[in-house]
Amino acid sequence: MAKTRCTDRVVGGILASWRYDISGISPEMRKDYEQHLAECARCSARQKFHRGLDGALAVLTSLSAFFFLFALAVLRHIKPLEHVAFNILGLDTVSMYEMLVSAAVAGLCFSIIAFLLVLTATPAPSYLGGIAAERARIIEARLPQALRSLRLR
Ligand SMILES: [Zn+2]
Repeated sequence: MAKTRCTDRVVGGILASWRYDISGISPEMRKDYEQHLAECARCSARQKFHRGLDGALAVLTSLSAFFFLFALAVLRHIKPLEHVAFNILGLDTVSMYEMLVSAAVAGLCFSIIAFLLVLTATPAPSYLGGIAAERARIIEARLPQALRSLRLR
């Protein structure tokens, strides 16, 4: 990725400052940048890397929100945890429980905020949507003709 050089350093620099995201500019202005991305191996590799990063961030933050939700569900439904807190750790059950619940709620709120920030600040939604559309096209191409004609109705 770093070995090949950019074919047009000015355009490459502009693209780098946008994190190789040209989805926000008008289609007429986009043409030059799309052409450069098609010609320049370095910039197209970097664009792929950054979109992969955005996708990974979106997946990680949504997973983290899910795990905090799971922790809350566990706290609500598992009584042995209270036994551990009370008898083994010698903690007051109510304060222990409240501490864990507030930690889980804070974690859940933080994860949701992080997830929303990723979705609004990066082109992750269109990137992930593009991947989903691509997969759907591949699956549809593999479907037998009989099934495809059914789907078109
Ligand atoms: Zn370039």
